Amino acid sequence: MKACWRNIAAAGNSYAALRAACSVHGIVLEPVRAPSADITCYSLNSVTARKYKPEIMGAECITVAGGPYASACYHEVASYADYVVVGEGEHTLPALLRHIMEPENTSLPPGVATHESFRPPDSSVFLDAYPPFGDVKGFIECSRGCPFHCGYCQTPSLFGGSMRHRSIDSIVACANRVRDARFVTPNAFAYGSDGRTPRFEKIEKLLGKIKSNIYFGTFPSEVRPEFICSEALEIVGQYCRNTRLHFGAQSGSERILTLLHRGHSVPDVVSAVELCHAHGITPVVDFILGLPFEEEEDQVKTLDLIRWITKYGQIHVHQFLPLPGTALSGTLPRPIINEVQQVLGNLALRQKVTGSWCDHEIRFFTNTFE
Ligand code: SF4
Repeated sequence: MKACWRNIAAAGNSYAALRAACSVHGIVLEPVRAPSADITCYSLNSVTARKYKPEIMGAECITVAGGPYASACYHEVASYADYVVVGEGEHTLPALLRHIMEPENTSLPPGVATHESFRPPDSSVFLDAYPPFGDVKGFIECSRGCPFHCGYCQTPSLFGGSMRHRSIDSIVACANRVRDARFVTPNAFAYGSDGRTPRFEKIEKLLGKIKSNIYFGTFPSEVRPEFICSEALEIVGQYCRNTRLHFGAQSGSERILTLLHRGHSVPDVVSAVELCHAHGITPVVDFILGLPFEEEEDQVKTLDLIRWITKYGQIHVHQFLPLPGTALSGTLPRPIINEVQQVLGNLALRQKVTGSWCDHEIRFFTNTFE
């Protein structure tokens, strides 16, 4: 039987990683632009799930869906896809494909839902067991999982609350195969640590062994503001090509940061911006607007912080989207007040602000390369 992967722009890195994982088990995932025999796999987020649901429902082949949306809403997705991979795919997807191909010799693996059954995943992936990419190039996932529990984020429910890391040797071997090494991680400055207390000696040991151009703490990964300190910035200056550092502030209101369980303060953000500026690095700072408990004065505080940061760096704004599997699932976004929209519009014209505070799809389909 032939196993195919439905090309979806937002899931390009998942394809690189899962194609490599399937190849470890002797299965080739062929890319396709439409559902194709015998089996077609989809990776769905909250935006792409809406778009591809009709296609999956109408597919004449066997369909397998995974990704953050399918994992959080497996019951719903199993009503239109034949199989749903819940959680991490590196082990589960090849085991499921093998089961579909050889049902008499194998059983349905844990971590798979169908319209009539569900066995929760019973293990988590050891990152070194699978390459981050194979013949199709992707980013290098150096860490997975996060000990923080920001109310809007799917990472802890998808990957767990403890950080796991790919070993230095494994990362270096992959990084030295590409011209530009870019990393996937919830917090690049947490590499080698428990996710809360940085271990910069591990980062320095890692980066010192990579021969290719290193982009660390910038797209597609980011860092947390309270991890930004002189030691971290000196490491970036010494080993990396990026002159920008990407981190999340999310709000200029202390009250909102507390309600989000962000685990850092507004002064942490201010300090991070000032340190970046002092080290000649441009800060690129993420904000979310329209959070469900945001009052007008919270949005004004966020706007004030955005205005100040634009003197030193750039802003990336998202409109809040309640994601399934998060603490804020099922809540409603608040409208963004006119004053905020007008100022953001003016800053966008001066190329100080990017992103979208009106359209979720732009958030999901726009990349920010340095
Ligand atoms: S937003 Fe970042 S720090 Fe917060 S839970 Fe998600 S990955 Fe962790």
